[in-house]
Amino acid sequence: MDIGQLSDKILNGDRRALARAITLVESGREDHRAQASELLGRLAGANRQALRIGLSGTPGVGKSTFIESFGMFLVQSGLRVAVLAVDPSSARSGGSILGDKTRMERLSRERNAFIRPSPSQSHLGGVARRTREAVALCEASGFDVILIETVGVGQSETVVAEMSDLFLLLLAPAGGDELQGVKRGIMEMADVILVNKADGDLKPVAIRTCADYAGALRLLRKRPQDPEGFPKAMTVSAVEEQGLAQAWDEMQTLIGWRRDNGHWDRRRADQACYWFDQEVRHALLARLETAQARSRMGELAAAVAQGEKSPSVAARDMLAELEQG
Ligand code: GDP
Repeated sequence: MDIGQLSDKILNGDRRALARAITLVESGREDHRAQASELLGRLAGANRQALRIGLSGTPGVGKSTFIESFGMFLVQSGLRVAVLAVDPSSARSGGSILGDKTRMERLSRERNAFIRPSPSQSHLGGVARRTREAVALCEASGFDVILIETVGVGQSETVVAEMSDLFLLLLAPAGGDELQGVKRGIMEMADVILVNKADGDLKPVAIRTCADYAGALRLLRKRPQDPEGFPKAMTVSAVEEQGLAQAWDEMQTLIGWRRDNGHWDRRRADQACYWFDQEVRHALLARLETAQARSRMGELAAAVAQGEKSPSVAARDMLAELEQG
């Protein structure tokens, strides 16, 4: 594969080249990893930035309907939109959250939209790296907005928040005054909470739910990096395409403020450091996964089990052997 040519095509916004490049970064093959690194290195020079929006919500809350409506709204506003997904469950379930072709039918037909299903990977570290690299490819390709979708499972929100400039949490209208068991950590990550399905019979419930969340958000720690009134809760209807322009206005207000006050650059720098740290950790852990290391771990574990070595001595032996390669 001619990486120079591929790079030029991506910079020209060629979507097929972009899709090929994402396949390349998703590959685990050594030679592909090397090509991917070369490609990403070349493209970094272009220094293009998109607005990266993370989006989370439990299954059924309306994520794909929202992405379709909101994506169409952005495209109709003259923006180029890419949609990526982080779905750590895909390997287990055999499907992927963007894999279903019937999802986002209108958006997928748009010339200025690009939709990429989540790669099937068993561990989140692998998914995270590939998605992060796909984000970089989409940025180089000149997209204005990148939507990164995730389902609310385990650590995937953290992964998405750490690669987003802005984090949206999509919620459904809830009866009574219970806060749908949303974990505090996820609430704290959200910049804008969107209570979806604010239409028909559900509208009054959505409005009440939204007020409940607005109240809950006020109780969270004040964020010095954000203007007054954020994080914010709003209602939308993905189906009726209501509230999308207002939501976009609020996002732009928040992002404009962060750019003007240096928070945008700082957040990206912090994220880069976070990913550097994660990469080192994953690479170290990967060294334990080689056949040789595993068999040696087994031997040492047996020695520990039989009381021949203490756990700490065996651990030190193992680490010393790893260091020697
Ligand atoms: P996801 O699992 O989060 O991606 O959710 P989907 O987008 O697949 O939507 C789940 C269900 O909720 C579908 O039956 C949608 O038609 C419905 N839905 C999504 N958005 C809305 C909305 O704004 N209003 C109403 N009434 N239903 C919606």
